[in-house]
Amino acid sequence: MAIFNAFLLFAQAAVYFTVMMALLRARRVIGIGVFMCALGVMHFLETYLASIFYIELPFGIVSPGSTVLFSGKLLMILLLYIREDALVVRQPIYGLLIGNFLIVALVMILRNHETIVVTEGRSPDIAFVDEMGFLMVWGTLLLFIDAIAIIVLYERIGKWFAGNLGLRFLVCGALVLTFDQAGFFLALHYVSSAPWHVFFGGWVAKMVATIVYSGLLLAYLKYFDNEDSWLSNRPLRDVFQVLTYRERYKQLLEASIRDHLTGTLDRSQYAEKGPGIIAKNLEEKRPVSLLVIDIDHFKLVNDRYGHQAGDEVLKLVARLLTENLRTDDHLYRVGGEEFVLLCERLPVDGAASLADRLRRMIERFSKVYLPEKVTVSIGVSSAPEDGRTLEALFKRADLRLYEAKKGGRNQVCGPSPGA
Ligand code: GH3
Ligand code: MG
Ligand code: MG
Repeated sequence: MAIFNAFLLFAQAAVYFTVMMALLRARRVIGIGVFMCALGVMHFLETYLASIFYIELPFGIVSPGSTVLFSGKLLMILLLYIREDALVVRQPIYGLLIGNFLIVALVMILRNHETIVVTEGRSPDIAFVDEMGFLMVWGTLLLFIDAIAIIVLYERIGKWFAGNLGLRFLVCGALVLTFDQAGFFLALHYVSSAPWHVFFGGWVAKMVATIVYSGLLLAYLKYFDNEDSWLSNRPLRDVFQVLTYRERYKQLLEASIRDHLTGTLDRSQYAEKGPGIIAKNLEEKRPVSLLVIDIDHFKLVNDRYGHQAGDEVLKLVARLLTENLRTDDHLYRVGGEEFVLLCERLPVDGAASLADRLRRMIERFSKVYLPEKVTVSIGVSSAPEDGRTLEALFKRADLRLYEAKKGGRNQVCGPSPGA
């Protein structure tokens, strides 16, 4: 019997999921409201089942209301957030909260009626209605917390599971549903004296539901919810890059401040953020250094090998510099083959030796990666010694860069003699 019950549960999950996902998939045609209404309607059945409808599974006693309907709903809310954005997902979250409170309010008025018996032996079960009303309030509050928690969690753990959406679903689902099971069971225990083994059975069932639904969500994202075509064959790695609205927005923002060729910060960022970085450090009595890095005889590279080869050289130099950044360093491409490296907390002597290290590294690695050695000249200045503004520091460093070029290139010219 327990096995048959498990089978029935899977069947419910499959039907529930298939219909809901079809509605979600069709949202551009029929509107998202259809999906949301269907989701909302299920909440009543869910609460009813969770309060009195229990079945036996091989590992314990569970309610289809919590296992199939509630767990599914929570993961569908997460999916809605991923495919749309916070603005859309807050609609069902608030709708469910307010709608359920409205039910309870109406029931509280309704129960005062003097009812008449129409069918012999059937009259409203007021005690049950009251009990359900309480569970409704409690469950609704929990759902509200769960829905927000699962989205926040999904965002927070993104940096650890960026490449693995399935694992991300699993962790979010498992943590939030564990919290939920504890919360809902406590209420059930006090209202209807549910025995403790119901907690455990329900918890296992919710974990299984998390696994099943995570798999279904991944399948949905891979095979059905492709913006371009129905049932198109999207490579799996693409699916793992399905991003939430906020992540997409951040990426866009990030791309808009970067130089397209080299990926370093662009000139506008230098002008916009540079002065503030220097001011902040000086205010906190910390040194800041500025390096102007210019590729030597770059015009010759272009002339000899072509513009495209020149671009490759630029990319390589930028990559080598980027790989050697500390967390408080900011690298900008300020001209064709000219970079500025702004280093927070780096004093005069440290700046000169950093510059020389970078110069030698570029000389060495360019020999490995390029047909011909490429070198850079670097002018260095530091605040407060050389000035207290971006303009003053750049001017000083640029003068020293000129010295370095005049001195034969492939060298560093800094404030301290011999640097
Ligand atoms: P110096 O050692 O004195 O710095 O000599 P240089 O040839 O590097 O200096 P110059 O400033 O005269 O030449 C810079 C060249 O960079 C000129 C320009 O054609 C080239 N350049 C500017 N932007 C780009 C770019 O995005 N891609 C490529 N391939 N070349 C660029
Ligand atoms: Mg140059
Ligand atoms: Mg130049």
